[in-house]
Amino acid sequence: MTKPTPPSIIALDGPAASGKSTVGSRLAEALSYLFFDTGIMYRAVTWIALDHDMDLKNEAAMTELAQNAQIDVRQPSQKDGRASDVVVGGKDVTWDVRSSDVDANVSLVSAYAGVRQALSEKQRNIGMRGRVVMVGRDIGTVVLPEADLKVYMDASAEERARRRYDEIIERGGKADYDEILSKMVERDRLDSTRAVAPLRPADDAVIIQTDELSEDQVYARILEMCK
Ligand code: C5P
Repeated sequence: MTKPTPPSIIALDGPAASGKSTVGSRLAEALSYLFFDTGIMYRAVTWIALDHDMDLKNEAAMTELAQNAQIDVRQPSQKDGRASDVVVGGKDVTWDVRSSDVDANVSLVSAYAGVRQALSEKQRNIGMRGRVVMVGRDIGTVVLPEADLKVYMDASAEERARRRYDEIIERGGKADYDEILSKMVERDRLDSTRAVAPLRPADDAVIIQTDELSEDQVYARILEMCK
């Protein structure tokens, strides 16, 4: 008997801090697939715009930036909790793209149709090569609708805010739970109500509610689906 082959294109979507990246990178490693976190691209474009004091309300400028930005995502060079290195213009911006400033502005930038078109096209080109775990908001619905396996990871906003809070404290940072929660709820609202490619599960996605599950349990469930 031949061994069943795992799905070649795996789409993992869900709201902020639903655990997609952690589980996705583990899964990619286990399958020897490429792990691709599409949120990094939206974050990097937003970071560049903020760093250059650009007007984030200028859709044409944001679109041009998304079309031309050289965003490099490489194997992690440090063991500080990162899943990859994010490099822009030779500078390691891995943690800069996760700043609260970027958190607060990324949904504005990612709602622009032109920005989405530029970045989705790059993501699709990479995804269609196969052997990939691609993580985001619209992978199963827009970027790779032909994905062999689509998973939508969800959890209550309170649980996700608690996880994000723990993450920051673990990295030695300072955090305010209520502030994290309200900002997360607002980002989810913007991401799920935008006109283009809103956050939602694909009709054929498997939805996993992760509130009561440990990371290991979620990972085991998805790995099982790959067999
Ligand atoms: O996943 P992460 O929280 O890093 O994503 C940051 C932001 O990038 C999201 O809040 C969303 O606005 C945008 N994003 C998106 N589509 C994706 C991935 C991320 O709009 N596929």
